Amino acid sequence: MSELDQRVTDPRFIDAIDRVMKELQKRRAVNDRCQRCNANNWNADLIRVIASPEMSGFGYPPPFIASSSPSYIPTLALSCKNCGNMVLHNLHVLNIPL
Ligand SMILES: [Zn+2]
Repeated sequence: MSELDQRVTDPRFIDAIDRVMKELQKRRAVNDRCQRCNANNWNADLIRVIASPEMSGFGYPPPFIASSSPSYIPTLALSCKNCGNMVLHNLHVLNIPL
C-alpha cells in the first residue's frame, strides 16, 4: 500500500474530509460539478499552501528574505480527475481545525 493509499484510508483523514464537506454543505457550497469540464469526479486532499504576504514594509515588489518564517494555509484541495482543474478551500475560513 502506497503512502497516499495509507493516508486516504486513515480514519482521521476520512473524518477531517467529512467535517470539511459538511461545513461546505452548511455554507451552501454544494455545486459538485467541475467548472471547467462539468464532470463530477474529484480527488480530495488536505494540503498546506505556503503563503507569504505580497506586500511588506519595504515596498513592492517585496524582497525575498530567506530568513523570513514561512506560513501556510490549511487547505482542502479538490482536483478534477477528468481535466485536472483544482478548487481550493481555506480551512481557516471554514473554521476547521486539523
Ligand atoms: Zn474538470
